[in-house]
Amino acid sequence: MNSINNYIYSECAVNSKKALYFKNKHEYLARDIDPLKAEEYREVRARANKFSLFNGFKTVENSKSIQERFAETNEALREGTGVINACFKFEDLECEVSQVMSNENHHIYLYIDKVNTKLEKETRKNCCRELAYISYVANKLGYIVDGSSVLYLNKDYNRSGDVSNEELFVIADVSAEVREMVEDVEDNLDAIRAYMNSSEEPESGFCAECKLDRCPFWSLCSPELPEHNIFDIHLKGSRFTCKKKLELYNAGIISCEDASECTDLKEYLRLIMKYEANDLPAYIDRDAVREFLATLSYPLYFLDFETIAPVIPKYDNSHPNEKICFQYSLHYIEEEGGELKHKEYLAYPGSDPRRELCERLCEDIPMGVCTLVYNDLFEKGRLNEMAAVYPDLHDHLKDIVDNIVDLEDLFEDKKYYCHGMNGSSSIKVVLPLLFPDDPSLDYHNLEGVHKGDEAMAVFAAMEHMNGEELEQKRHELLEYCKLDTFAMVKIYEKLLEVIS
Ligand code: SF4
Repeated sequence: MNSINNYIYSECAVNSKKALYFKNKHEYLARDIDPLKAEEYREVRARANKFSLFNGFKTVENSKSIQERFAETNEALREGTGVINACFKFEDLECEVSQVMSNENHHIYLYIDKVNTKLEKETRKNCCRELAYISYVANKLGYIVDGSSVLYLNKDYNRSGDVSNEELFVIADVSAEVREMVEDVEDNLDAIRAYMNSSEEPESGFCAECKLDRCPFWSLCSPELPEHNIFDIHLKGSRFTCKKKLELYNAGIISCEDASECTDLKEYLRLIMKYEANDLPAYIDRDAVREFLATLSYPLYFLDFETIAPVIPKYDNSHPNEKICFQYSLHYIEEEGGELKHKEYLAYPGSDPRRELCERLCEDIPMGVCTLVYNDLFEKGRLNEMAAVYPDLHDHLKDIVDNIVDLEDLFEDKKYYCHGMNGSSSIKVVLPLLFPDDPSLDYHNLEGVHKGDEAMAVFAAMEHMNGEELEQKRHELLEYCKLDTFAMVKIYEKLLEVIS
């Protein structure tokens, strides 16, 4: 019989019980954990263990077997000592607990730590499910769980000097929610065991709890679907949710063709379905394009930032998970028909890049000029954060924010739509469809860095490089970011062309 652990039990909350079957029977298709993030998570765990509440706790070594860890946990708790890296085992059930406090007479209190900076509804529910499972196993072993809490990162913690573990974390008492969920554990475990130990392939199709947008087993689970179907369509935010797709699927509306006739869908969604079902020429609302272009003025700037997001704040005046700008690319055209010019900034790793970046940006973008970005929430967010950190540059940075126009808006609002966008307005999707035969706009032709998360990883790795290797990586980052703003220039020119 396969054993069950917190990860497997929680997986049902993240995906579905059916996912467990696939996980056991097929090669696991889950995403690889980014080694950089894995290292940061280890540091969060180490800091959580040093939280003052856990002073005097016994630390059980992670490298030991489950059986050894369980024996050590049990022994310490029975002696009245709290345990870090605790482990419980009962029949086919195993679980790990970040910290367990020992009260008198077999009473215990559970803590798990998470790298999140918010405990939003879904995350909180998943944490509670995990704690309910742990409580169930602890009960089976004769422990009485007095309560349970989640330790997570304090989004408002502003680093000043050495990182303070006391200020870095906040504790949410979730005892009442967990107590309610413990009642469901038995039934959930039966269903999990049935799926995990079954030798029969489950029928294709999606179960009621399916969260297919996040499921790595989508290809194994999906029945035969027609070409151009509703599951191909991915919209930003929650405009076409997994729940809605499953509703349509269960009503027999699966192809984009059928969905394009569905009056239950908003007009823009029907338009997307129509363009995906039929290889129609691009839909362009020329009035909307004209209106959009009328909001722009020369000199015109095209800006893009690259960022890192350290889980534990790396610099003073920054918060957990805050996005820290280390690079920008800036194309600009001074007057109508004028020459395209370019400026850029890329920090050397090692110290806080923000001050120098802001100073250079304020030199490069004069006040009162129009700046185009792609997805304004990102650039505006970073500029506002940096304006709060540097009061002397505040007015200039805020002025840039006030004059930003978002080039993505037209594509997000489906005023310009091509077959193949599949609902997306991402520049990586839009660009090749607008310029299918231009290799200079193809991110695949870049050396080394092709997307934002690669840029993040390369910049972080640069801290341990020097000489030629460092310069090569700098070159790759500069080329990547430059293409981001050059792509915006080309899209802008295309818009001018379609209304001419
Ligand atoms: S696609 Fe949905 S039903 Fe299938 S395994 Fe994934 S979450 Fe479960």
